[in-house]
Amino acid sequence: MIIMKFGGSSLANAERIRHVVDIIKMHIDEKPLIVASAMGDTTDNLLEAVDRALAGKVCIKDIRKLHLATAEELEVNPDVIKDLFDELKNLLSGIALIKEFSPRTRDYLVSFGERLSVRLIAGYLNRIGVEAKFFDAWDVGFTSNNDHNNGEILEESYAKIDETLGHLNSHYAFTPIITGFIAKNKNGNITTLGRGGSDLTASVLGAALRAREIQVWKDVDGILTTDPRIVSTARPVSNISFEEASELAYFGAKVLHPRSIIPAMCKKIPVRVKNSYNPTHPGTLILSMLDDSNEMLRVLTFKKKVTVVDIVSTRMLGQYGFLAKVFQIFDEHKVSVDMLATSEVSISLTLDNRENGLEGLEAALDKIANVTIKKGKTIVTMVGNVRRSSEILERTFEVLSASGINVQMISQGASKVNISFIVDDSEADTCIRELHRTFFEAA
Ligand code: ADP
Ligand code: ASP
Ligand code: MG
Repeated sequence: MIIMKFGGSSLANAERIRHVVDIIKMHIDEKPLIVASAMGDTTDNLLEAVDRALAGKVCIKDIRKLHLATAEELEVNPDVIKDLFDELKNLLSGIALIKEFSPRTRDYLVSFGERLSVRLIAGYLNRIGVEAKFFDAWDVGFTSNNDHNNGEILEESYAKIDETLGHLNSHYAFTPIITGFIAKNKNGNITTLGRGGSDLTASVLGAALRAREIQVWKDVDGILTTDPRIVSTARPVSNISFEEASELAYFGAKVLHPRSIIPAMCKKIPVRVKNSYNPTHPGTLILSMLDDSNEMLRVLTFKKKVTVVDIVSTRMLGQYGFLAKVFQIFDEHKVSVDMLATSEVSISLTLDNRENGLEGLEAALDKIANVTIKKGKTIVTMVGNVRRSSEILERTFEVLSASGINVQMISQGASKVNISFIVDDSEADTCIRELHRTFFEAA
């Protein structure tokens, strides 16, 4: 059994869906379970429909048009999706009426994208004689916590998924098409797993069903040496370890959802990132063990618009007491930290971009420290074999100082697969281009 996940870019229109179905048919002997995202930009279009509803106008013309045109072109009976349009329109009318849009309503609203796409894909497969069934993820056991917009899949889901789909391991009777990105919490409310969350759905399914491989089909030839939108010559990496993939996703590489690698890693299920536009390319294989190749770095990634907080102790708490107090304050304000550097009396750390909500944290920290908050920063992360860190850092400083870029804070992860540092947002693209040239393009 394999899991095949297709992202929005692979499912943009009827032609792309036909192409994806050809890829599925090529793998049919491997008993594929399909995870589908919403078609194209449907998730963004749904969010735009809310903006219109909040301004008093209920309109789903663009979403309806794309899905009905796709049904028509694929010769799928549109009745399979018509009820969803009515439900969506009612929801938007409700939002327009009460002018309120909570995180819970947001999850309910964006769930329509994936619910529409699985119905069309299954309809098309059946029409061409490949027996398929669509499932909303909660019907096969996906239960999440109550964290709307960024839900975590609960441990109990794994046994439930095995109970509902595990039989396909031995008696494969149809191709399941399962919604990515969505789940329900224990109260029965729809939740979502964070943008790009279909990758996580695929990983959870693969782990629950002990799949041979989890394939994540995108519009690029695998994980590339850096973001191709910054460096057009970025090239695919053939192998990468789970730890490395996890770090690069966490530190901003848009190619994988930040938490998607963990379930596969725990069960040691290989993950392959493939290109639906170039299916014969082998893509990137993510594995638990790699022979320690000579390559120093594998991928450069970055996370823009982060906030750096410098906290310098004003009292004589001693380092232990100071760190404990600082983290207690972060815990109380439910603010999580990405990157950290400390000395005896000071801590620098980074937080995700947030315009509001830092006042309480700042006020609490002010009681024990001098606090400086700096916005508009980028975390640049070098992922790979960074055991020879002094050599990497020497080259990094050399090339960045030649470009006049100031490195502001450095940290090396304990897993020895990443080095991160901070630069200004305005210098991020130049920094990535210069480092890519030095580490990946030099002869
Ligand atoms: P999908 O939604 O189809 O699953 P995404 O759009 O989420 O796919 O991810 C693929 C995109 O990620 C690529 O088109 C590319 O622009 C971007 N990307 C950013 N960094 C990288 C990287 N290091 N390697 C590959 N793609 C990357
Ligand atoms: N459709 C969702 C999004 O656009 C989930 C996904 O594509 O994985 O973020
Ligand atoms: Mg995506």
